[in-house]
Amino acid sequence: MNSNHIETEAIRTQIERSQYLEHSNPLYLTSSYIFEDAEDMRASFADEKERNIYSRYSNPNTSEFIEKICKMEGAERGYAFATGMSAVFSTFAALLNAGDHIVSSRSVFGSTQTLFNNILPKWNISVSSFKIEDVEAIEALIQPDTKVLYAESPTNPAVDILDLEYLGRIAKKHNLILIIDNCFATPYLQQPIQFGADLVIHSATKLIDGQGRVLGGVTVGRADLIQQIYLFSRNTGPALSPFNAWILSKSLETLPVRVDKHCENALKVAEFLENHEAVALVKYPFLKSHPQYALAKKQMKLGGNVVAFEIKGGIDAGRRFLNAIKLLSLSANLGDTRSIVTHPASTTHAKLTEENRLETGITGGLVRVSVGLEHVEDIINDLNQALKL
Ligand SMILES: *Cc1c(COP(=O)(O)O)cnc(C)c1O
Repeated sequence: MNSNHIETEAIRTQIERSQYLEHSNPLYLTSSYIFEDAEDMRASFADEKERNIYSRYSNPNTSEFIEKICKMEGAERGYAFATGMSAVFSTFAALLNAGDHIVSSRSVFGSTQTLFNNILPKWNISVSSFKIEDVEAIEALIQPDTKVLYAESPTNPAVDILDLEYLGRIAKKHNLILIIDNCFATPYLQQPIQFGADLVIHSATKLIDGQGRVLGGVTVGRADLIQQIYLFSRNTGPALSPFNAWILSKSLETLPVRVDKHCENALKVAEFLENHEAVALVKYPFLKSHPQYALAKKQMKLGGNVVAFEIKGGIDAGRRFLNAIKLLSLSANLGDTRSIVTHPASTTHAKLTEENRLETGITGGLVRVSVGLEHVEDIINDLNQALKL
């Protein structure tokens, strides 16, 4: 297919230059496009030619962003969305019918969990979930109406790893559509399609933007499935804005170097925490102590930028630690140049029951650090002074 490396595709994939022969890719802020004549207009609407008609359908900037992600993920086609959640929702809404069933990992992003629990059931679409450490249970959950197998790896916030090759085999055997939310890994660290995924979803808001500016999402994969997602989206309107697409496409040019540095810093932070007396447990995919270290090494290029750790002393110690943080941000986002700490038990996952929290690996003292691009010694110094209190 493509002969260039991912780094090169992320930089050199370009929409056609305009008459001005610009070097950097221009921004096309236009809601619609004009036709040559009546016949051109008819043929365009009849899908007889591939061209821009209206920016809810396509736009040069969104097309360029999608094309880059496709090349990096090894995907045939894609569609870009206003947010990661609109990518997740539209993908399910486009592919599933009333009565269909999903098998999903229990550890999924909070809003995806809400979609499964409260929103998809409105159309009688149900979800059965398996625990990360119990993938052998998947086959027993599959029913005649099961259409989709869904998972994230690494998971949020506990950075557990799922065996993508195994999921690919199960999906193939039972003729399920395997959808992987690849947000934590980015297309630079992991390409799920290699392992049998049919579709890959990203929240581009995280490491793809990488600078905490814009929201975005994208689904890429098999052309026949993307065609259904495209037709659904072209009529229901979750499209990514051209401006955000232009930002995100520019961001992809630096994704590999940024992610290299994020991962280098994260590994150092994880090693520091592992040796700290106030820390009970550290989880980072590329630490030898991670339960799925070998698997992480097999399917990921580097360990990612999220480190999860357990402070001794439970929920109170977790909150004290957050209050003592000076440099790092207390924020719900991740994948930013700025390092961020969160305390899932009292924030993003506070609405779950304690039992549900523990099932997804969220103990009272669990802290998630999204390691940024500040000098790693400054990040470690801040964590260190906050752990001493
Ligand atoms: C943030 C996130 C999403 C949702 O993306 P938004 O851009 O915030 O809508 C989905 N999945 C994962 C794993 C995420 O981290």
